[in-house]
Amino acid sequence: PSPRVCVLGSANMDLVVFADRAPARGETVAGRSLLTVPGGKGANQAIAVARAGGDVRMVGAVGTDVWGDQVLAVLQAAGVDVSAVRRVDGPTGTAHVLVDASGDNSIVVVPGANGAVHDPVPGLDAALDGAGILLLQLELPLDAVLAGARAARQRGVRVVLTPAPARALPAELLELVDLLVPNESEAAVLTGCGDPEAAAAALLDAVPEVVVTMGARGAVWRRRGADPLHVPAPQVTAVDTTAAGDTFVGALAVALGENRPPRAALTWAVAAAALSVQKRGASTSMPSRAEIVAFVRDAFGHEVC
Ligand code: ATP
Repeated sequence: PSPRVCVLGSANMDLVVFADRAPARGETVAGRSLLTVPGGKGANQAIAVARAGGDVRMVGAVGTDVWGDQVLAVLQAAGVDVSAVRRVDGPTGTAHVLVDASGDNSIVVVPGANGAVHDPVPGLDAALDGAGILLLQLELPLDAVLAGARAARQRGVRVVLTPAPARALPAELLELVDLLVPNESEAAVLTGCGDPEAAAAALLDAVPEVVVTMGARGAVWRRRGADPLHVPAPQVTAVDTTAAGDTFVGALAVALGENRPPRAALTWAVAAAALSVQKRGASTSMPSRAEIVAFVRDAFGHEVC
């Protein structure tokens, strides 16, 4: 079996309201429908790993409310080990999303229980035992992210960071990152450079490996001392790109845990993400291992496993 993937990150309930338009200040508008769906980058990445066939444990926190029950139930049903997800007094993290008729959205995120995850992170050390990879994002307090990276480095666990939401990163954190996976806009925030290729090259000053995801253009992988590796995304009809990036990282972690060579690992991640954009929702759109295997064969013409 491949080594376990550990995810230290956020778990939210996303409350998605569909309305013709967003209300102006002080105004009330009628909504069309409400969708409640678990989200948060940590939970999304954990579910993506489990769906892609990885052994995954999540570390984080939900509240004592009904959203916490539901988020835990969805993680468990996907096959994520939630023994290190604590319940803390108060509300679960929530994302309040308003989607208008043109598909544009505005979002308010309330961290809730995610904001209670601090160094020392309960359950982190045990969760890293036997892990090969730690997935981190930036939706938890930075001291918790740093604690995760430090504990992983001490144990020789590979640290993979999705730098979202985008922000400048302390050198202390970057020094502990083995692989950084920004999208184009995050890469631009980190480097001040709008061209993803150039941004990836610049980021190699800070970290040994970088994968920049480029939406419908696929992804590029840079390693110090190696030529850039590009994998274009297969042409698909995208209906909802929510959590494409999280699906990508989850699948990539599974491939890396199975020691696939870089091109095969990147192809696997690009295939998983292309499958996810063809379905609505976040956790509901993540492909299973069997779906990824079949799609890699059909879209890229090679066999994986
Ligand atoms: P999101 O924020 O929507 O989760 P992201 O902005 O973090 O995604 P993107 O670079 O947009 O990340 O997408 C991640 C990966 O998903 C891309 O590298 C690509 O492989 C795949 N992808 C995204 N959009 C498309 C698309 N329209 N067609 C095919 N693949 C796509």
